[in-house]
Amino acid sequence: MTVSVSNIQERLLLGPGPSPVTDRILQAMARPTLGHLDPQFLAIMDDVNERLRRVYGTTNELTFPVSGTGSAAQEASLANVVEPGDKVIVGINGVFGGRLTEMARRMGAEVVTVEAEWGRIIDPQRMIEAHAAHPEARVLAIVHAETSTGVRQPLKEIGEVLAGSETLFLVDAVTSLGGIPVDVDAHHIDVCYSGTQKCLGVPPGLAPITFSPRAVERIRSRKSPCQSWYLDAALLADYVGAGAQRKYHHTAPINMMYGLHEGLVLLEEEGIEARFRRHAEVGAALQSSLEERGFTLFAQEGHRLPQLTSAALPGGREEGPVRKELLTRFGIEVGGGLGPAAGKIWRVGLMGSGATHESVGRLLAAVDELLG
Ligand SMILES: *Cc1c(COP(=O)(O)O)cnc(C)c1O
Repeated sequence: MTVSVSNIQERLLLGPGPSPVTDRILQAMARPTLGHLDPQFLAIMDDVNERLRRVYGTTNELTFPVSGTGSAAQEASLANVVEPGDKVIVGINGVFGGRLTEMARRMGAEVVTVEAEWGRIIDPQRMIEAHAAHPEARVLAIVHAETSTGVRQPLKEIGEVLAGSETLFLVDAVTSLGGIPVDVDAHHIDVCYSGTQKCLGVPPGLAPITFSPRAVERIRSRKSPCQSWYLDAALLADYVGAGAQRKYHHTAPINMMYGLHEGLVLLEEEGIEARFRRHAEVGAALQSSLEERGFTLFAQEGHRLPQLTSAALPGGREEGPVRKELLTRFGIEVGGGLGPAAGKIWRVGLMGSGATHESVGRLLAAVDELLG
């Protein structure tokens, strides 16, 4: 058969991302491409930024989508506020904390890590103690929703301590934004980034980021220029802000911006609280149904993400072959484990428009047929 996108078979995307994309978003992306300086496009971009502030729970002026996936915003978050020789504290209890560490090291930071077992939270007290031991740290970074394990990290206590210090609070909200509250301002978060392809339900390609006034001040007073030209927030601010000079930096991914705009419109039509409730309800339903079937939930009880469920199959059954059949026979995608959890668990995402009882029903019916 000729390879053509018109032959693509639709899947039910219940993995760790990308999540299903609704027709309204796909239709929005099919609108005519505009120039990146066209006033029509600038109005859409400004509105995206305003809507992002509401979803993030922030009044931060410097809030915009980075051109790239979540990993691009992850690099941007560190690259803008870290200078060579800076001390950075990073919490690691899964893949993404490990990546923060690797990125910070590549930027010349001296990284202090606080590690916890995969599947467990990092006790906030341990982060606070690490900060007390290294009060000169310029940044403390942690992952809110660890997609590799399904753990939801408490942020409140850490934010309260850092607010009264010189250390910036940097949070990975790639899997949390749009699925559970992030509350950037309430948690005193200085740098927060996400991605379009998880709970926002938009294809991969843009990555919302926000910088607090304190973080902007840090960027302005850098001694060395941001290591990355492409991700330099000081340069990008000349294009993205409502009062900006609209100076050309790079060509914005125009049609992706339409998709993100429509995704944010859909989110507000539903209502953000209703959306959080929907994710909470279907996540809880899936988790109890899997336990009834003999699955063992991997993430620490009381700290489980509703939008990402990690679970070992009943009776020590090998996960890979079943997952493959789920995709080929039933058209349902779920993820496998990473790192120490590789081969041991499934990671089931109920994100964005995928977070429905219908998704749960389809998955469970297939699982019953495959394991029954
Ligand atoms: C998915 C993810 C990323 C990376 O995002 P990409 O879109 O895959 O580049 C970073 N952090 C977390 C917690 C994620 O789940």
